[in-house]
Amino acid sequence: MVREIEVAAVTQAVKALAIEANEVLGEDVLDCFQEALRNEESPVGREVLGQLIENARIAREERVPICQDTGLAVVFLEIGQDVHLVGGDLKEAVHQGVREGYGEGYLRKSSCHPFTRANTGDNTPAVIYTDIVPGDRLKIWVVPKGGGSENMSRLFMLPPSAGLAGVKEKIVETVKEAGPNPCPPTIIGVGIGGTFEQAALQAKKSLLRPLGSPNPDPELDRLEKEILVLINKLGIGPQGLGGRTTSLAVHIRLLPCHIASLPVAVNVQCHASRHKEAVL
Ligand code: SF4
Repeated sequence: MVREIEVAAVTQAVKALAIEANEVLGEDVLDCFQEALRNEESPVGREVLGQLIENARIAREERVPICQDTGLAVVFLEIGQDVHLVGGDLKEAVHQGVREGYGEGYLRKSSCHPFTRANTGDNTPAVIYTDIVPGDRLKIWVVPKGGGSENMSRLFMLPPSAGLAGVKEKIVETVKEAGPNPCPPTIIGVGIGGTFEQAALQAKKSLLRPLGSPNPDPELDRLEKEILVLINKLGIGPQGLGGRTTSLAVHIRLLPCHIASLPVAVNVQCHASRHKEAVL
């Protein structure tokens, strides 16, 4: 049975999610802040973590953005193969949701021409990724992505001989070179394998996994924890002011790759780890 969904419902959902994502930090992120506060030894680091918790409370209660950088609007769509979208163009419906959400929510518009820097004026175009999946549902994630942490993200096309040691080195090196710029404590999304662009997309998708949840692959789970320990030995700390809490988590997704390649993408996510989802 094919199920019809009006694209106007997509616009409404994207609009609401864009506003909510920018104002309400996830409970998983807040739990991580609290745990980090318990473990952080640096007084300045503890002070910063306390401020992040307070900042999130004010944003949630007063309905103001968690951060002035309300990001480019990244939108993931999982479209059930039994869904028939009616009433217009799906992508235009998403753009309209972003336009309305960023307008009515008084969220900063951050999208501009790369050379002239002329602002597009309404935070469109959204960055849209679609996946076709079994079923008759449409799942939507809105993921505002700030520029500071995105700028510190890196992609490496390593030789296969670099192996696991080379992969770990590049991840830790990326965090070290980023220093305070991506507003730590960060979440480090990693895509290993695939092609050039798949690695980057896997890294970004890995950031959608709730913080504190284990990687479904036990080997990757062990690797994530091992790399997190290495990162938190760097001493960068909350907001780069020193401490053991440089990152809250490392999330890894892995795909098979070409026999001649070993792509590694590191998508750095700042402490304002914003994403909200809805199912139509
Ligand atoms: S990196 Fe994140 S926390 Fe820092 S300014 Fe950008 S959105 Fe805000």
